[in-house]
Amino acid sequence: MTRLFAGTPFDIPPRCDRCGELEESCQCEPAGPERLPPEKQTAKVRVDRRKHKRMVTVVWGLDPVACDLAELLSTLKAACGSGGSLQDDEIELQGDHLTRVKENLRKLGYKIAK
Ligand SMILES: [Zn+2]
Repeated sequence: MTRLFAGTPFDIPPRCDRCGELEESCQCEPAGPERLPPEKQTAKVRVDRRKHKRMVTVVWGLDPVACDLAELLSTLKAACGSGGSLQDDEIELQGDHLTRVKENLRKLGYKIAK
């Protein structure tokens, strides 16, 4: 039986340090901001009452560098079937979706501040 790999460090193909895939099959966005996995982020969720008794669900406390807020916004909009937008570093969803938003954040792996 012949061994194909000599076992020196130089024979190990380079791997992406973000996803662990071989660099040639890595699907990561090139050199983006330093994201953190959701498990290392804590989100806060509150419901605000705006003008004319309009309710909005606000996700806040997330670091805009560590977290792709735009992507999270579209995930939550789809999950709640509602409109929403980014307000500074806060995600604002139209309507009272406190329970559903928390459920979805947990499903994604985020910690939720009490
Ligand atoms: Zn990668």
